[in-house]
Amino acid sequence: MRALVDGLLDLMLPRHCAVSGRPLIGDEAGPIAPEVLREVQVAGADYCTRCGAPQGPGVGVVKDCNLCRDYLQGFGTREIVAVGLYTGVLKEMCLALKFGGERRVAGALSAWLAQLCFDRGIVGRIDAVVPMPLHVIRRFERGYNQAALIARELAAALEKPLLDDVLQRERATRRQAKLSAAQRKSNVADAFTVRSGRSDALSGKRLLLVDDVMTTGATLAAAARALKKGGAKGVYGAVAARAPLGDDI
Ligand SMILES: [Zn+2]
Repeated sequence: MRALVDGLLDLMLPRHCAVSGRPLIGDEAGPIAPEVLREVQVAGADYCTRCGAPQGPGVGVVKDCNLCRDYLQGFGTREIVAVGLYTGVLKEMCLALKFGGERRVAGALSAWLAQLCFDRGIVGRIDAVVPMPLHVIRRFERGYNQAALIARELAAALEKPLLDDVLQRERATRRQAKLSAAQRKSNVADAFTVRSGRSDALSGKRLLLVDDVMTTGATLAAAARALKKGGAKGVYGAVAARAPLGDDI
């Protein structure tokens, strides 16, 4: 009976994979078809702790890599976790979440991040989860903050409090996509502040700062700096995808 109802629902309200467009059938929950999800190369035992970028097989755990070697001052974070590189299906998923209105993609991205946080012992080193805020105008334009969607599900999976009202983006910064690395840095340098009256929530806490995509790391670094200025003891980063420099986001 249940199968019949599902079958009828599929006929009336056809669902499609948010990446491949293939119709989803039966008990395929979506929003991504299983064969598409399997294409994502989730970071394994070879990764960079500084920027989260996956490394080639056998490289192991490194403290800097060719993507972050020019950022030896770091990103203001103790360690960054990334599901994978901003390419292929993972890139398509980030785009579907950010620009395609496919909010449920956040579920798959946060599940991978949660697994990585457990595998790397990050879960025992953080007290709360903080999403990268959007400026209120961007939030209004899009209708939602994609980083907050990931952060909410990640906080639930890690059983940590979600602090989604402590950090605010004061300026509607220029879109980073067309800017050079130096421009990106100055564009976001003072974009973040801790909301007045919320320093108590941060004081002495170790936080996991969540964003969808990390390119140069300028945004993450600026937000981490604001959190620490606001009293946080330490900041870790969790991003769905780590993009190489110059990639258009
Ligand atoms: Zn790196």
